[in-house]
Amino acid sequence: MERLLFGTGGVPHSARDRSTMAGIERIAQLGLGCMELEFVQGVKMGRETALEVAELAVKKNVVLSAHGPYAINLNADNPEKLKASVGRIFQTARVAALCGTQSIVFHPAYYMGQPPAQVYNQVKAQLQQIVSQLRTEGNKVSIRLEVTGKVTQFGTLDEVLDLSAEIEGIAPCIDFAHWHARTGKYNSYDEFTHILRQVERKLGRQALDNMHIHVSGIAYTVHGESNHLDLQDSDFNYVDFVRALKDYKVKGLVICESKNLEDDAQLLQQSYRAA
Ligand SMILES: [Zn+2]
Repeated sequence: MERLLFGTGGVPHSARDRSTMAGIERIAQLGLGCMELEFVQGVKMGRETALEVAELAVKKNVVLSAHGPYAINLNADNPEKLKASVGRIFQTARVAALCGTQSIVFHPAYYMGQPPAQVYNQVKAQLQQIVSQLRTEGNKVSIRLEVTGKVTQFGTLDEVLDLSAEIEGIAPCIDFAHWHARTGKYNSYDEFTHILRQVERKLGRQALDNMHIHVSGIAYTVHGESNHLDLQDSDFNYVDFVRALKDYKVKGLVICESKNLEDDAQLLQQSYRAA
């Protein structure tokens, strides 16, 4: 990526309707640069719509990414559930490729009470097969594992970065709000830059040149994330956050998942430009 783009997780509230097409048009009108397609309740988009989406996104100069279904658990103990999870990742990756997105994002797994190291190996084995199958199909989409917000969810910063380092085709989606909610920390300039240095150390400078970031206002308890808020109703230190991104010349996509979506995406973009 040449620069850092700001956009929304899903169709902006102020779009003329709830369609992806209207979402892309609205992102362009708002002066934002990207939008994440939300397949969180399942992939329902057909081939024809996906091709139209791809064409409009190019025309409007809006970069797209895609969020896979929440019903994914690569550590499911039931073989049927595991198979369904893998299937949902393939569905997302295939439609995302038709939409012209470079990456898909999902929450990889739950610990299910098992030791994290064991879950790591299970998730790793599944991901290796998934990437290899996608490449066989000629699908080049990056698989982005999200840093998750709840302590029951696999996806600490280290787990995500280590899998990204170990498997070609896997990359991180760093959700700064999740990590803040999960740890109760990581809300200052020094802590934000600590994360960025960790990314660079484990994955190299090119990872900072092609980052995928989620951010929102967030409410949390000792168990981590409870719900998303607007930035100004939360304790998230977005001013220092954008300053850290600017100082480290981070490039890629910042997807805003605040309740108000586009308002906070614009707030972040303005704060970044002013930083
Ligand atoms: Zn997510």
